[in-house]
Amino acid sequence: MSVLHIRIIGDPVLREKGEVVEEIDDNILQLAKDMIDTMHNANGLGLAAHQVGVAKRLIVLNLKDIGVGKKDMVLINPEVVYSEGSDISEEGCLSIPGLYTKLERPYYIEVEAEEIKLSNKKRKKVRIKAEDLYARALLHEIDHINGILFIDRLDDMKRRILLAKWRREHPEYSK
Ligand SMILES: [Zn+2]
Repeated sequence: MSVLHIRIIGDPVLREKGEVVEEIDDNILQLAKDMIDTMHNANGLGLAAHQVGVAKRLIVLNLKDIGVGKKDMVLINPEVVYSEGSDISEEGCLSIPGLYTKLERPYYIEVEAEEIKLSNKKRKKVRIKAEDLYARALLHEIDHINGILFIDRLDDMKRRILLAKWRREHPEYSK
């Protein structure tokens, strides 16, 4: 088990557009395993490779805690291909620890990706239909691999106020 260091807002890697993952080599498999360990260690619902310093289009999701499965899911190159409806719920991010705010997202989405099974290294094209928290978690992680943080989706004024408050309360994360 390897828990990796989670990058915090201000780290430039969080703003990079992720590279497409072409080949599933040992490095990618190890990265995915370590990301799963890191996600569980931080009690997260999901984690994107950017958050451990790697700008690649790779995300992991904690399906058990999201309430839609038993296992963890590893996806490469996920793309949102359909979205519908609207939902406003509280959201947070392991890269801005302790900042939670209500954010509007689509309620239902469909995502095309490739799922990687770590047990046998198989990859398979999938089209995921997700609603509610599952959709939110996918959208949040897909934002990360495009260099977007959830607070970017708030209006300017609200984002500035929340970040200023967060920085005051968490001087340990300031550079
Ligand atoms: Zn996040």
